[in-house]
Amino acid sequence: MISEDSSSLAADIVAAYVSYNKITPEQVVDLLRAVRAELDSPSAAGGAPMAAARADTGSQPAVPVEQSIQPHALVCLECGTAVKLLRSHLRHRHNLWPHEYCERWGLGEDYPFVAHDLSSRRRSVALDTGLGKSDHPRHTERRARADGAA
Ligand SMILES: [Zn+2]
Repeated sequence: MISEDSSSLAADIVAAYVSYNKITPEQVVDLLRAVRAELDSPSAAGGAPMAAARADTGSQPAVPVEQSIQPHALVCLECGTAVKLLRSHLRHRHNLWPHEYCERWGLGEDYPFVAHDLSSRRRSVALDTGLGKSDHPRHTERRARADGAA
């Protein structure tokens, strides 16, 4: 049973979500259904512990952490803005260091701060220009000599 209230609230939540996430109409329908179900049954399995954990931080992320990592952008959990370079966004907009951000939202050490497509493009550029090869023969030779002298 879906009440009028939760229906319009669900629509608001979904509208806010799609404003900064590019999703297909099918995904919108699924999302709307999921949000409605969640609103209609706040005591559903998993709901209570999550609410307790959120109460500890005193605030909620703009988007769920698992939805903040997009193929072409990272969604800032502070303000919901999708950015390519999260590190500089955090410094300029929120005056936060990455480790503060991770602590604040309970993110793992492997949380990305550069959008995936950008980091993979950078990596391929680095390889093209030879920057990816650290074992250049001349470097190795120089290091070996330094070791012998010391
Ligand atoms: Zn932000």
